[in-house]
Amino acid sequence: MTKLKCLFAITVILVGIASCYNNKLVHKEADAKKTSINTYTAPQINTPDEAIAEIKAGNERYVNHKLINTNVKEMIEHTSDDQHPFVAVLGCIDSRIPAEMVFDQGIGNMFVARVAGNVEDAYILGSLEYATKVKGAKLIVVLGHNKCGAVNGAIDGVELGNLTALLNQIKPAITPDSNGNKMRTANNTGRRNVQLTMERIHQKSPVMNELMKEGKLKMIGAYYDVTSGKIYYEDDLGKWW
Ligand SMILES: [Zn+2]
Repeated sequence: MTKLKCLFAITVILVGIASCYNNKLVHKEADAKKTSINTYTAPQINTPDEAIAEIKAGNERYVNHKLINTNVKEMIEHTSDDQHPFVAVLGCIDSRIPAEMVFDQGIGNMFVARVAGNVEDAYILGSLEYATKVKGAKLIVVLGHNKCGAVNGAIDGVELGNLTALLNQIKPAITPDSNGNKMRTANNTGRRNVQLTMERIHQKSPVMNELMKEGKLKMIGAYYDVTSGKIYYEDDLGKWW
């Protein structure tokens, strides 16, 4: 091999190695971009109003299929030592309404208590007091929904084992529609049931009332539409929007 040919061969080899290295770099950058899309950041919530804004934004993301709390591995790592959820939800056991998902909140953001018909009892109240007084959650959401089996069961006077007592607690909320529309009766009752649950939480928990008086805690009513995924909230005048 002449000197010239030898030099040419070495150049080809060097160019090959450089191109391969360059390719690897490009791939590494692409991988980094891929993972950074889902990089987990815990929401910075310091007030009840910020908590309300975040859960409303979360449901907007859910409805628009733009979930951001999806990186389970990072969320597990981030919360392995302790938890500081900013909100506590009292929702129904209905399988269509997993609270973390419908508010697009990841692991460690949300306490969730679920019972058919989203009503309170002593254990639920104790759980909410732990969530708020001990762990510092800034917001309680009482989350009802349409097409609720428990609400319909209460309206229909269903009696079955331990379910009877649970449905009895919903019955004071029954609000018939003046035109006899069954679905409107169910929705009126479901929303009234949320309001009555909130009233009873006020009556039965001096611990949470104190936090609310101090401005450290708020409680809002919410109503989930199982046909759209959208959540409607109750304003201070008891209207739903
Ligand atoms: Zn339900």
